[in-house]
Amino acid sequence: MFFLLNLVLCSVNYSHSQPHPWFYTPREEMLSYIGYRTGHIAYALLPLLILFSSRNNFLLWITNWSYSTYLLLHRWIARIFAIQAIVHSITLLQVYRDTGEYITDSKMPYWQWGIVATVLTCAMIAFSTLYFRRLSYEFFLILHILLAIFVLVGCWYHVILRWGFNFYHNWLYAACAVWFFDRLVRVFRVAKNGLHGAVVTEIGPDHVRVDIPGLRWASQPGYIAFAYFPGLNPLRPWENHPFSINATSLFRSYRPALAHGSPSIGASSNDAENEEKSAGNVVQATVVQDTSGVVGTSGVTLIIKKNTGLTRLLKSNSRLLTLLDGPYPQSHGSGLLKCDHVLLIGGGIGIMGLIAWTRAHPNVKLAWSVKSSAQALVKEMDVVLSDVLDKEIEVGARLNIDALLKNEAEAGYGKVGVVVCGPGGMCDDVRARVAGLGRAGKTTFELEVDAFSW
Ligand SMILES: Cc1cc2nc3c(=O)[nH]c(=O)nc-3n(C[C@H](O)[C@H](O)[C@H](O)COP(=O)(O)OP(=O)(O)OC[C@H]3O[C@@H](n4cnc5c(N)ncnc54)[C@H](O)[C@@H]3O)c2cc1C
Repeated sequence: MFFLLNLVLCSVNYSHSQPHPWFYTPREEMLSYIGYRTGHIAYALLPLLILFSSRNNFLLWITNWSYSTYLLLHRWIARIFAIQAIVHSITLLQVYRDTGEYITDSKMPYWQWGIVATVLTCAMIAFSTLYFRRLSYEFFLILHILLAIFVLVGCWYHVILRWGFNFYHNWLYAACAVWFFDRLVRVFRVAKNGLHGAVVTEIGPDHVRVDIPGLRWASQPGYIAFAYFPGLNPLRPWENHPFSINATSLFRSYRPALAHGSPSIGASSNDAENEEKSAGNVVQATVVQDTSGVVGTSGVTLIIKKNTGLTRLLKSNSRLLTLLDGPYPQSHGSGLLKCDHVLLIGGGIGIMGLIAWTRAHPNVKLAWSVKSSAQALVKEMDVVLSDVLDKEIEVGARLNIDALLKNEAEAGYGKVGVVVCGPGGMCDDVRARVAGLGRAGKTTFELEVDAFSW
């Protein structure tokens, strides 16, 4: 749609005025109009292009689209921006060749900065493909940011040296403002959350649990945070990665304890379930205590599957310096909460994106499969999943996704929610099956896909 809009806006409403004041022939005149219009639209796309890649994007706050949807749109706007820049360069090159101005103008700095911007835009598109993102995400990210800065600088000098402070540079101010705003809010969020000494515990060979004490974030479905572990790689302290967040209290078992006179030592007002006060004195209080003796329900827990980058360096630690940028909603999922039944399908570490859903809806079924090497992860989930009555956990075997979804369609529910969080292949399977069943049967499906990748 957006692509078509750009095409239409670049194609309509051109009119000749001959004889031309700059002595252009009708062909040169038309080419120059196309060149100037595509150049201008490209500049107008820049703020949008950066906005759609931002974590702190006001459009995210007012729409119920997910961050991954905005990233998808970011990629499409980038492609359209590149096409506009290429058409701008080719058409005006042709005009300048035809009129003989090429010899002089091509040596001017404004021209050369324009070439820098167009060539680097094309390089950005090439280096942003899935191949390079998978090869090394950190390398992709650093290169992407550096190239983006050079593209903006190129665009700046291209117009300033040619037209002075006319109008075009305002688009660049807007683009920089959007970028700066995102970075500033990130800094505020990290500062607000503070520095933490996280407890890192190894769960088998491939996973670690990171308990970050002190934070009081409610467990809500679809929330993530970007974690910084600056001590792990001091050469790149800015490196941060997205992880699903869950309250640490969900991973602990609590037992009720009866206390007389006053709550148990360490029990906070949050932990007191039922307090009856008489003449200002507490006469009876039922408090909730962790079986391990720790009282309190604050703290955020990440469970991380070790990959080949920074996460590979995570090892047992009793005080790992951790900073968090978040929490950010990945999806709004409000439609799912209105469904009659919610089926949660997880693969491996994808369980972390499903835990909050098990608490958010009264009628859920959890289906989770893990490799046999992740037995320790299943054990780690004992407490948190103990309240989920309808669950199927496969260790070392695949889930029968077809049967799971067919059961939902045949159960007679009017509206079924499906959340899938796992490897890309599993997400694709579920998406295809849900689309098929939704078309064929009476049950309406609401699907949420969290593939843990962008
Ligand atoms: C919304 C979301 C939630 C996630 N939640 C969890 C979770 O709860 N537990 C968990 O173990 N993993 C989770 N992941 C995946 C996790 O972010 C990556 O495994 C982690 O970033 C890999 O770090 P690494 O340096 O070891 O990566 P590398 O081994 O260098 O790269 C492995 C792959 O991870 C991806 N990746 C790397 N860095 C980033 C980044 N900064 N942003 C996005 N993707 C990246 C790339 O696709 C890359 O190909 C989540 C991912 C997303 C997008």
